[in-house]
Amino acid sequence: GGEGQVVLEAQGLRKAFGGLLAVNGVSLSLRRGEILALIGPNGAGKSTTFNLITGAIPPDAGEVRLLGRPITGLPPHRIHPLGLARTFQHPHLFPELSVLENVALGTYARTRAGFLQVLLGLHRKEEARALATAYRALKRVGLESLALEKAERLPAGQQRLLEIARALASGASVLLLDEPGAGLRAGEKRELAHLLKSLAREGYSILIVDHDMDLIMGLADRVVVMNYGEKIAEGTPKEVQKDPLVRAAYLGE
Ligand code: ADP
Ligand code: MG
Repeated sequence: GGEGQVVLEAQGLRKAFGGLLAVNGVSLSLRRGEILALIGPNGAGKSTTFNLITGAIPPDAGEVRLLGRPITGLPPHRIHPLGLARTFQHPHLFPELSVLENVALGTYARTRAGFLQVLLGLHRKEEARALATAYRALKRVGLESLALEKAERLPAGQQRLLEIARALASGASVLLLDEPGAGLRAGEKRELAHLLKSLAREGYSILIVDHDMDLIMGLADRVVVMNYGEKIAEGTPKEVQKDPLVRAAYLGE
């Protein structure tokens, strides 16, 4: 990936918490079909950057554009229907609901019936459509055999896949994944990498925050590296891996 049009663009993002500049002038762009990784040591400002892009927190300065539209400062529930879905470092699930229902709730972004109406089954036709969409998304991530299990019964790795299925079911084409590899075993990480690569080939654009170098190096088309709130390097995995600033940041030299 990496040759398509720019689908997500952040320019000059800045956010201070009190006297601490958590994100200081960060710019990045994501192209259609591309897997872009945002990496950096703990406290570098990755999650804050993510939260500025998804609208979870408003920036002090800077701009974000999604599919050509300015989305700076919009709240997540306004950004989501425009085509951007995210997953969380710690999955946000309804533990008592089934895997299928959890994914079906992701479709509320594009149904006319609201979230609660789908949940309560008030719109039978919308509900049937949401469940069919959810089932397709579950098949896409290989969880369809667990559709009727309670979400809380899934191990951590599969809860992450459930979140990805929910993002797919929402109809979004831009996916932001916060530490999707955390807590996965080596085999699960390989499967995750395989899934994300095939989604990118289909035209999904994926921004991943992770500090798992092994996962990122085999997966990302491009990498943006942050340290102390600033972008310190950008390039292919190979390029950033041998960058002296990046090595210093990671090794604490
Ligand atoms: P990363 O995800 O790269 O580990 P974060 O974006 O979470 O980094 O944090 C960047 C810096 O901002 C850290 O020093 C962190 O302690 C601080 N920070 C993050 N969120 C808040 C907040 N809500 N209030 C105060 N400080 C915060
Ligand atoms: Mg973080």
